[in-house]
Amino acid sequence: MNYVPDIEYITEKLVDLLNIPSVSGNTDKAIDWLKKQFADIGYEGCVNNKGALLVTIPGENPGGERLLSAHVDTLGAMVFEVKSNGRLKLSLIGGDWHSIEGERVSIEARSGEIYTGTVLTVKAASHVWGAESSKIERNQDNMEVRLDEKVKSREDTLGLGIKAGDFVSFDPRAEVTRSGFINSRHLDDKASCAVLLGAAKYLAENSLKPFYTTHLLFTNYEEVGHGASYGIPETVREMVAVDMGCVGDGLSGSEYTVSICAKDSSGPYDLKLRKHLEKLCEDNHIPYVVDIFPYYGSDASAALRAGANIRAGLIGTGVDASHAHERTHKEGILATARLALAYMLNE
Ligand SMILES: [Zn+2]
Repeated sequence: MNYVPDIEYITEKLVDLLNIPSVSGNTDKAIDWLKKQFADIGYEGCVNNKGALLVTIPGENPGGERLLSAHVDTLGAMVFEVKSNGRLKLSLIGGDWHSIEGERVSIEARSGEIYTGTVLTVKAASHVWGAESSKIERNQDNMEVRLDEKVKSREDTLGLGIKAGDFVSFDPRAEVTRSGFINSRHLDDKASCAVLLGAAKYLAENSLKPFYTTHLLFTNYEEVGHGASYGIPETVREMVAVDMGCVGDGLSGSEYTVSICAKDSSGPYDLKLRKHLEKLCEDNHIPYVVDIFPYYGSDASAALRAGANIRAGLIGTGVDASHAHERTHKEGILATARLALAYMLNE
């Protein structure tokens, strides 16, 4: 049977979620939003102490419990220091300096007030610095946030209530094109959150139950390495992390397919589970590739490292320019949602 979830629903929800800032460590709003989306389709979720969301969908058969995970947290930054010129020095939460130059940002002050600004080098004006502006190394000392406020000194900025430790989120600039591409920061891993939501909606609308009880875990600390190190119920036997697939030299992954990861920086994933996922793609004519991800770790790796007694796998839509200005296509997202559904509904 060919399970085809509603790609327009998934895309719409994805864009909504992309527009909710959720830097690792500041994810409550995004988690609350997800919890509400699941409640709207009939599944009550539960938020654990750590702030992750678990949604359990009862299955047709006892035992064999499964878990699919996606992470709602994203790269971002914190204010490291309010500088003497009133601008902000940043401390990155994941990611790298070159990919954020010129990006618009929001700073969430302790009061909850939101301020905007732009990430620039300290020698951004080429009419002033000439060739220096392109040569300057992109690093913490040479980059700063120019606030959209009339501030000239450290005191001016502190007066706004902006301090070290305030969260800084990068504008996702989410845009869906007529040709089906989704351009945005943070498709890693909000695309997968929307995929799991779309899969659950398909089950609800068609009054279907997974073959075994299936838990959906939305983690909130994946980008800093310990997302699913907690939150997997003891009864779970098998876990599939749904996260972005790598696209680039030497890889077969694309924005139009679901990638099944054989191995990443944390080592090989479970072979039996990988073969099962490949067979589900073959049987259901889902476009897929198998790849090795060179610089990568997932929530499945975090769970295994924390001692979870599970078989673990990793799948996800191919994302171009990951951790920078990312892009994927509705076809890759749909392939991932179809594989997630096939996985839930088959033995
Ligand atoms: Zn990710």
